[in-house]
Amino acid sequence: MAKYIFVTGGVTSSLGKGIIAASLAKLLQARGISATIQKFDPYINVDPGTLNPYEHGECYVTEDGAETDLDLGHYERFLNTSTTQANNVTTGRIYQTVINKERAGEFLGKTVQVVPHITDEIKRRMMLLGVEGKFDVVITEIGGTVGDIESLPFVEAVRQIQWELPEEDVMVVHLTLIPYLKAAKELKTQPTQHSVRMLSETGVHPDVIVCRTEEPLNDDIKRKIALFCNVKQESVIEAADASTIYEVPLLMQKEKLDLIVLKKLNITKFTEPELTKWNVFLDKLKHPKSTIHIGLIGKYIELQDAYKSILESFIHAGAMNEVKVKVVNVHSENITPQNVNEQLAGLDGLLVAPGFGNRGIEGKIIAVKYAREHQLPFFGICLGMQMAVIEFARNILGLKDAHSVEMDPNTPYPVIDMMEEQKRITMMGGTMRLGAYPCHIEKDTLAYQIYGSQNISERHRHRYEFNNEYLKAFQDAGMITSGVNPATGLVEIIELPNHPFFIGVQYHPELKSTVEAPAPVFVHFIDAAKKYAQTKK
Ligand code: GLN
Repeated sequence: MAKYIFVTGGVTSSLGKGIIAASLAKLLQARGISATIQKFDPYINVDPGTLNPYEHGECYVTEDGAETDLDLGHYERFLNTSTTQANNVTTGRIYQTVINKERAGEFLGKTVQVVPHITDEIKRRMMLLGVEGKFDVVITEIGGTVGDIESLPFVEAVRQIQWELPEEDVMVVHLTLIPYLKAAKELKTQPTQHSVRMLSETGVHPDVIVCRTEEPLNDDIKRKIALFCNVKQESVIEAADASTIYEVPLLMQKEKLDLIVLKKLNITKFTEPELTKWNVFLDKLKHPKSTIHIGLIGKYIELQDAYKSILESFIHAGAMNEVKVKVVNVHSENITPQNVNEQLAGLDGLLVAPGFGNRGIEGKIIAVKYAREHQLPFFGICLGMQMAVIEFARNILGLKDAHSVEMDPNTPYPVIDMMEEQKRITMMGGTMRLGAYPCHIEKDTLAYQIYGSQNISERHRHRYEFNNEYLKAFQDAGMITSGVNPATGLVEIIELPNHPFFIGVQYHPELKSTVEAPAPVFVHFIDAAKKYAQTKK
């Protein structure tokens, strides 16, 4: 049986519970303890797959094809291990399970209620990853903020687990905000006291209080928080603003969060922390030798969370190449043939982002054309790859009005078409081509140079594909289809020769990039951009 740590949030959202949970897991992992992290979200959507990125940012996809909250991306990037469907649970999924059981008659005539039926299902799922024996510690991040009506059943489930398990098998870490009032020149502890009181009223008492703060917490403040929130002073942890999220594990280590947790959970077998690779990465990240500018062409650029994994992949790949990657956001809706030179001036590489729907599509196609003609390193992901195919069809093959049937169902040249198995699907949730699929790579291609292997596996999230009826026309005109799904023949990678770096991938390599294993396509793209920047000098 594993031990359980619950992470709750108080005062306000956006304090970075996911980063604190991931940092704690990283520190435990560094001490030889196997930890996993799961996220429980209070909303009614069964998963975030049907959510617009403007709602909760990017939809992250796991190996086994679950569409999940973006915090799972942080968990994977920090721990360098995969998460699964079981690592993200929403209120919607809980209710769906309970209601399906009710319809099947499994409650034998009983009234089905929030307590105990919903809370029992929450508890079952909270414990699930811990009973397999794979993990020493399961960390559960509870989405939302203490006091929200919708997170009450989750908090009640935590209370019951705390009551049922031996004291040394469960603990609660509460993340809160200590605001600094400039006018009074004072850090204020009252909001934290209130949120801990609210948590205690529901029967859950935190063992550790992690305080987000812009100013250092002195001993007096720590003592005050400890006294009024009823925890030991050593269990009041300062979480100062960090220059990068990847520094947070080290900040938490300085505050001895790992040792406090090990003591509370009575874990006695652990090693000295092994963070060599992590520190090498951080060192490179903090001391880049030069700066390059990458254009991110997308339509959700006002909201950076919409491209979370891509931005993090740039950070990993930048560190690997010892350059600082400055991402220049270019709104695809603003790009026109007249202003493209000006819009993309000064860039060392172009990434055309994933996405859905018609908005900003023509701008993306114009950007691809610019990169192709100006020998500017180009990298298209999913929709970005599809746009590269359309651009080639229109401007090289001369197929006027070629398009994806997603944007133009009546296009005369559907070079991107709906996948056969998608045509029968009517429901939207969880029905795309999702998760990891193998891809076979041709030798003597850019893709082979990048991966150094003929057999790779990458994660997917799409409904449309390269239309193989046009395969020969594309190949004859010089486009290389260097990666193909071995079972279906689905084109996964396209590239152009006679160009320093032009690649489009139907999959999402950003979902597998971690601190310790940056995604190879990103690493090579940044390398190409670095070389491009050097030739400009
Ligand atoms: N909308 C495109 C498709 O469904 C691309 C999806 C994506 O970029 N993730 O195929």
